[in-house]
Amino acid sequence: MVAESVLATRATSWSEAVSQEVDAILVASELGKLIGALVRKGYAVIGPTLRDGAIVYDQLESVQDLPAGWTDEQAPGHYRLKRREDGAIFGYVVGPQSWKKYLHPAEVRLWSAERQGGTFRILNNEVKPKAPQAFLGVRACELAAIAVQDRVLLEDKYHDPIYGARRAGAFLIAVECTQSAPTCFCRSMGTGPAVAGEAKPPVDLVLTELLGPKGHRFLVRARSERGAEILDEVKTTPVTDADLHEAETGVEKAASQQVRSIDNAGIKELLYQNFDHPRWDNVAARCLTCANCTMVCPTCFCTTVEDTSDVTGDHAERWRKWDSCFTQSFSYIHGGSVRTSGKARYRQWMTHKLAAWIDQFGSSGCVGCGRCITWCPVGIDITEEVRALREGAGHGKP
Ligand code: SF4
Ligand code: SF4
Repeated sequence: MVAESVLATRATSWSEAVSQEVDAILVASELGKLIGALVRKGYAVIGPTLRDGAIVYDQLESVQDLPAGWTDEQAPGHYRLKRREDGAIFGYVVGPQSWKKYLHPAEVRLWSAERQGGTFRILNNEVKPKAPQAFLGVRACELAAIAVQDRVLLEDKYHDPIYGARRAGAFLIAVECTQSAPTCFCRSMGTGPAVAGEAKPPVDLVLTELLGPKGHRFLVRARSERGAEILDEVKTTPVTDADLHEAETGVEKAASQQVRSIDNAGIKELLYQNFDHPRWDNVAARCLTCANCTMVCPTCFCTTVEDTSDVTGDHAERWRKWDSCFTQSFSYIHGGSVRTSGKARYRQWMTHKLAAWIDQFGSSGCVGCGRCITWCPVGIDITEEVRALREGAGHGKP
């Protein structure tokens, strides 16, 4: 329970205190109990863990699965894990995966059927996860990306029931960034590194990791009734002005570390008016059309549908899989592909992301997470490409 001095002045429990924006301190050793409380409520807790030389998202069995004492080193086309000495649990930035892995999965079986006599019987094809999911460690830019996918997949003319079923039960625990990678530019996109009080989508809990002289702790804020209920299950202490200052300083440090940015003034017009800019040839000479940028992007949502059957023809399935505007088949229509060159495909991706997306969905399709820069094998940098278009760089030059 929250220390009595806080509750006595404001409310009698976290559940009642939440509407009053009460903050508190959770010592790091209590984080395992918070995970346990979520598990007891029936959630599958998904969070960061180490695998294959990267920090990825996976189901957590215990607090030991979290990447304590690890950080990531990122640059265009470069990602390495490194040890850190302070034991920070969320002392990394963002890895190759985003929460779309769980909300908008890379592969989903839409249906399966089997032949019975002279007809087909459609089998039970439940696409909901077995348990509601709690996402631990959602960064501010990732929250913004979930809001973008909510807009695209739930709030438009067509409602995606697969995304909707996963999204409906998701419990969101945001963690504010206290460091940025050189590839981050959320500050210029207005999406981070702080988790705004009116964060969209709404979150249940917000954590800020503190590693100062008072030890390894978290500033924790409940932003929903169910977030408050989870906090009722762990031991917290009152927050002090010094704690709030430490948290604010950490997030400000992350913002000040950002060396990349996009100037969004008139960006839609910039893209629409530069369809024939020579810079597209320049980027096409480097782009491998590998589609990595779209796979790692937390907002890209395009899919294709594949039908399969076994050799007997008795069993058939239809799968939905992530697709990418970087593949030639993506723009295939009767008679051939519309975008046959790498130049056309890169231009399509960036123009959709930063311009047409605004017309379609009312916001940029980029949240400034920097993944497409880090995971591009040749280090193509969307911020640099915007700058080059804006400054006229690349005109007639390789
Ligand atoms: S921009 Fe980079 S990541 Fe994207 S398709 Fe081209 S080479 Fe691959
Ligand atoms: S375009 Fe790049 S920086 Fe922007 S959201 Fe996608 S992966 Fe992140």
